Amino acid sequence: MYLTIWGAAKQVTGSMHLLELADGYKILIDCGADFTADAYKPDYNPIPFEASEINLAILTHAHLDHSGNLPILVQRGFQGQILCTKPTAALTGLLLSDYASINKSKILSNPKVKKSAALVNSMIAAGMYLEKQVDEAMGRFVALAFNKTFEIRPGLSLTFYKAGHLLGAAMAVFEIVENGITKKIAFSGDLGRKNYPLLEDPEPLPQVDYLVCESTYGNRAHESNATPEEEIEKIITETCVEKAGRLIIPAFSIGRTQTLLYILNKINFKSKFGKIKVFADSPLAREGTKVYNTHHEYLNVEARSMYHNQGNIFDFDNLVDVFNFKESKAISNYSQPCVIVSSSGMITGGRIQHHIQRNINNPYCTILTIGYSAEGTPGAQLSPNSHSIRLNGKDIPVAAKIVKTDVFSGHADKNDLIHFVSNQNKTSLKQIFLVHGEEESMNSFQASLQELGYANVTIPEKGQRWEL
Ligand SMILES: [Zn+2]
Repeated sequence: MYLTIWGAAKQVTGSMHLLELADGYKILIDCGADFTADAYKPDYNPIPFEASEINLAILTHAHLDHSGNLPILVQRGFQGQILCTKPTAALTGLLLSDYASINKSKILSNPKVKKSAALVNSMIAAGMYLEKQVDEAMGRFVALAFNKTFEIRPGLSLTFYKAGHLLGAAMAVFEIVENGITKKIAFSGDLGRKNYPLLEDPEPLPQVDYLVCESTYGNRAHESNATPEEEIEKIITETCVEKAGRLIIPAFSIGRTQTLLYILNKINFKSKFGKIKVFADSPLAREGTKVYNTHHEYLNVEARSMYHNQGNIFDFDNLVDVFNFKESKAISNYSQPCVIVSSSGMITGGRIQHHIQRNINNPYCTILTIGYSAEGTPGAQLSPNSHSIRLNGKDIPVAAKIVKTDVFSGHADKNDLIHFVSNQNKTSLKQIFLVHGEEESMNSFQASLQELGYANVTIPEKGQRWEL
C-alpha cells in the first residue's frame, strides 16, 4: 500500500492523508481546510488529486481543519461514504453550514457578483461551497461506534478509538491484509488530554506498524498546574468581584464554549458569584450545546452523571442566552459586573468583535484568551504585553487587562504525546509520520522520539508518497 500526506505537512491545518491499497482502492483520511491557503489565488487547489477515484473517506473529528473541504470533495465527484462517529457527524454538519454561510457573505460582498452568475459558479468550483454542497456532503455520512471493528471489505477493517480532544473525536486504526501479510496503520487525528472536562481520556492504541501522529504541541508542555475550575474562579474573582469589571472570553463555538459553560455550572456559579451574569453570545455555540446534550452518552463519567441528575449540564442560574444581534449589542449598556462568552475564538468575525471593540480600552475589563489563535488573526495580537490591536482596519489602544491560560487547551502536550507513542513497541512500529504541527514543533518531537529509541520518525513534505 501507499501513503500520501496531502495536508497538515509542516503546518497545523489542512489534514488530508491518502491510503492506496495494492489493488487501487483509495481511502482518504480527513479532508480539512488549509487556513494558510489563499482561496483567491489562481493556483489554489483544495483537492490536489482526482476526487472521483477516492472510494471511501474517514473523518477523525469535526474541526474544520479536518472536515472543511469535504463538500468540495463531493462537488468534484467523490461518490463514496464518509465514516465517522455520531457526534462528529452532527458537529460537522453545524460547522460546515456555518462555513457555507461565511462563504455566501464573501461571495455576495464581491461587487462583480451581481453582474455575473458565471463568477459565482467559478467561485463555487474553486472551493467556496454553499449550503447545497454541504447538504450533498452530509448525505454521505455514515456513523460508526467506538471500539467496534468494522469490516469495510475482505482484508480491510477499521476501528475507531477515543481521542478525547472534542466530542466524538476518534483515532482511526486500519488493518489491511495484502499478499497474505497483515499491516496495521493508525491515524491519531487530534489527540486530547487526560482528565479534560466533559471528555473521556484518549485511549491507548493497539500495536501498529505505522503511525501518522499529530504534533501540535510537540515542543512544549502546558504550563498551568491549576484545574479549569480554580483558574476560572480566580479570574472571575479578580475581574468581576475585586474590580467590579467585566470578563470577556473569546471562545470557539464548538467544544470550548461547552467546556467553559460546564465548568461554570460545576463550580455552582450563583452560590460563588451572587448576581453576576454570564452572557453566552453565539448562535453556533447554542446549536453545538444541543449536540453535546443529545450525545451525552459520549461524555465522561462525571458529565454523564451530572446529565442524569440535572439534564442540560450547560445551563445554570445567572446564565443569559443571547439570541439576536440587537440583544448582543445591548450588552454594552449593561453596567454591572459580568462574564461574556462569545465567538469566534480567534476574533476573526462574529459577535466577539463588537464586545472587544467596545471594551478593549476599558481598564475594568479583562479579556481572557483560552484557545489557539493562528498567526495574523486579531486573537494572536492579544497578549499580556499588547498596547494596541488592529481590528477591522483600525488600530485600537489596549487598556483592558489581557490574560492567557492553556488550562482549556484541547490538545495533548509534549509529555502526553510522548506517553501516547511510548505505548508502541519500538521495533514493531516500523515508521512514524509527524503531521499537524509547525516545523519547529515537529523537529523537537522527532528528536524526543529518536532519543527514546524510535529510529524511523519522518517529517513529510506535502504530497510526499511512501510505499508501506
Ligand atoms: Zn481538532
